[in-house]
Amino acid sequence: MTAGPGDTPHVRQLLGAYVLDALEADESGTVARHLQRCGGCAAAYVEAVDAVSLLALLNVDDLLE
Ligand SMILES: [Zn+2]
Repeated sequence: MTAGPGDTPHVRQLLGAYVLDALEADESGTVARHLQRCGGCAAAYVEAVDAVSLLALLNVDDLLE
């Protein structure tokens, strides 16, 4: 992960928790603002949402079989 001088650090490490709504309010706001400006992280966010959606379709019994 790289961020040039003066750039906002990327937020990919926070995306999983952001998708799960597990961040503190200030962190969540930081991620939301970053996603509006960074296409790379926005794409990663969409992927994370998709992954969580797929997981939500599974249930524990399916995973244990
Ligand atoms: Zn970014």
